[in-house]
Amino acid sequence: MNLKPKVVISKCINIAPVRYNGEIISDEFARKLGKYVDYIAVCPEVEICLGVPRAPVILIKNNDGKVKMIEPQKGTNYTEAMEKFANEFLSNLKEVDGFLLKARSPSCGVMDTKLYSTINDEITNGVSGIFATKAMEYFADLPVEDEDRLTDYWIRYNFVTRIFALCDIRTNLVNAKDMREILQLHERYNYLIMLYSQTKLKEMNQLLTNYKTQGFGEVKNKYTKLFKKALKRQPGLISHYNVLRHIIDHFSDKLSSAEREHIQKTLNMFLKGNIALNDINKLIKELAFQFQEHHLLNQVYLNPFPNELNRNC
Ligand code: SF4
Repeated sequence: MNLKPKVVISKCINIAPVRYNGEIISDEFARKLGKYVDYIAVCPEVEICLGVPRAPVILIKNNDGKVKMIEPQKGTNYTEAMEKFANEFLSNLKEVDGFLLKARSPSCGVMDTKLYSTINDEITNGVSGIFATKAMEYFADLPVEDEDRLTDYWIRYNFVTRIFALCDIRTNLVNAKDMREILQLHERYNYLIMLYSQTKLKEMNQLLTNYKTQGFGEVKNKYTKLFKKALKRQPGLISHYNVLRHIIDHFSDKLSSAEREHIQKTLNMFLKGNIALNDINKLIKELAFQFQEHHLLNQVYLNPFPNELNRNC
């Protein structure tokens, strides 16, 4: 796989000891992922000159309803500085496929940062940090996750699948010179898009079938938008099951009834969570190879990202 997604990472994750207490977070998955992506490391709090070590900041929402970043010891308000930095940094990011941020941080946290009404009164622990909020506004179609959430297999699977697919679109679709290249890419992504959204897959098929009524540039733009929107939904086990059934239907007439029964049992075990997706994909790839189903072997769904990233940390 030649794709190398670009991922913004909180600098305190494996990169540099920039946390408020001078520590660094060690994260094995982020380290593994780093072999296959280009990280763009940033520490928003260091960028606004808070220094290391520094007094911790918190998020406060008081009567005016606005979330502020405050350093409780001195009462200094860093909201404007943080928003200004985030706006400048994010608006200058031209190539990016996702964000891997630090959980629970008032700057980088993704939906799990504490919010206070006063310095001592916590209202909730379910908001995003100021930098993370801006990242989600600027890049609404990209995955934004934190290292804690990525310990969940399916959230991680979804994140990694999306950054590789979005990188493919950013590098290969955007540079496509003719319809043939778009159609080839669409062919490879057929089952992956089906996994995420059958509705969007239909819209994309229609767009490509009627491409002659529109300009090439227009088709490319519309296709890119549909692709990004399709991937925003987190698929469940049933969606995977349906895609796997579609794939198996391609060669089920070449299987013996005992083989068909074995595959159905394996799929049922998958639905119950008793067998890993990776193991089923391996079985399907072997059968596709045996029956020389090249169209299936090229499917991104069966090889969405490097194998090493599929293993548990
Ligand atoms: S969480 Fe964000 S702001 Fe805090 S140390 Fe890490 S990179 Fe810096």
